[in-house]
Amino acid sequence: MYTVTNAATDELIEEIQNATDAEVRAAIDRVHHGYASWRRRSVADRAKIVARAAELFAERADELAEIMTLEMGKRINEGRGEVGVVVDIFNYYAENGPSMLADEPLPIKGGEAVIRKEPVGALLGVMPWNFPCYQVARFVAPNLVLGNTILLKHASICPRSAVAIEQVLHDAGVPEDAYVNVFASSKQIPEMLADPRIQGVSLTGSEPAGISVAAEAGKNLKKSVLELGGSDPLIVLDTDDMAETVKATATARMRNCGQSCNAPKRMIVMDDIYDEFVERLTERVAEYYVPGDPADPATKLPPLASAAAADEVAGQIETAVRQGATLRTGGHRITPGAYVAATVLTDVTQEMDAYREEIFGPVVLVFRAESEEHAIAIANDSPFGLGASVYGTDRERARRVAEQIEAGMVYLNSSGGSQADLPFGGIKRSGIGRELGPLGIEEFMNKKSIRL
Ligand code: NAP
Repeated sequence: MYTVTNAATDELIEEIQNATDAEVRAAIDRVHHGYASWRRRSVADRAKIVARAAELFAERADELAEIMTLEMGKRINEGRGEVGVVVDIFNYYAENGPSMLADEPLPIKGGEAVIRKEPVGALLGVMPWNFPCYQVARFVAPNLVLGNTILLKHASICPRSAVAIEQVLHDAGVPEDAYVNVFASSKQIPEMLADPRIQGVSLTGSEPAGISVAAEAGKNLKKSVLELGGSDPLIVLDTDDMAETVKATATARMRNCGQSCNAPKRMIVMDDIYDEFVERLTERVAEYYVPGDPADPATKLPPLASAAAADEVAGQIETAVRQGATLRTGGHRITPGAYVAATVLTDVTQEMDAYREEIFGPVVLVFRAESEEHAIAIANDSPFGLGASVYGTDRERARRVAEQIEAGMVYLNSSGGSQADLPFGGIKRSGIGRELGPLGIEEFMNKKSIRL
């Protein structure tokens, strides 16, 4: 069942039945047949349609933001900001896609060759609720320019976002059989992946979902791209403006109510500034204490995406405290609505669950580092390897530390965030593959060698 529930009030607004197996098969058939004509259009033609989609996303930013606010409690201004990034992504691939897809000459022994960049067919996208528009854009914009067609299964709490996105794409000129939204359940995904008309799958979501989808894809010899969870470290080596550093790091953590895969979730602070950092961070985080309506731009603490998500985060905090972590502020569930008070935890040790888990909510963990090497060791002592940040006044030192961090992305003196031209993705249990930038268009590409 797909549902729309107001996360701020717990009110159930709408229920939508899952697609039947026959409807799922019909949707696969559409994108399979759609591929034959979509791939034959010129790249310039497809890029023009993707550029038109960017214009329509910009025009409908308010409408899309309102849907996200209702469906998953996103603060309205953050929703508008998210659609702004979507517009950038569609524009980026419309502008740069054609040159990325040009033949690449390859001098070879005894002759010459080219690498031709071709699509592979109909793809399945499985998307999460935390950035309902942005996650879809990262997968869809490059693949539409490349010539693949898309069957999209969105998160079951985001059906209205799913329909609004599909409408934008069709209104922009993407043929109705080149992009199809399907209200499939996750139980129907194995059958979808076994279908020979589907050539690959991209999933953004949790580790269990990634494991299940990658296993099914593997069984059927299909490629999967996985963008999974993270518990990104943020190392503070030193600062000449503690207030600003604390503000920047707290803001990055609290973005999207803490529900960003690449938010800095573990602050690792050098011993000599640790006490001041924790004190100021605790004051700053307490500002995110009063729950509010996410539709009100003045709200600082919106709900999490669902009551289930809020219960899970509150449970993780409770376990951490029971296992010996120090609760500096927050920690409690607030009802009605899916709220959790913004939280700072310190003294988290290796034996505690919180040390290794991703906490997907407004919760900051702060660790004390005795030395640069110790900071790097804590940063790397994680099953995840998505992003990381290093703050410091000495750029060379910060760079040296950044180079030793095991992650797919590292930011110097900034944290989190995402932009169209910068590749995004992780290592270890954070996933496989890249989205965005020049790498994002290559994942479902047939790089065909042609010996001339
Ligand atoms: P989720 O529960 O894994 O759901 C993501 C999508 O996968 C949904 O469409 C969901 O469908 C589907 N799904 C769930 N279990 C499945 C299964 N066993 N087989 C096939 N599909 C399945 O994740 P979420 O709670 O929406 O998102 C939060 C997670 O996503 C966090 O861990 C976050 O870090 C991660 N994330 C990663 C990135 C990145 O780029 N690395 C970006 C954003 C989020 P239903 O809704 O129908 O269950």
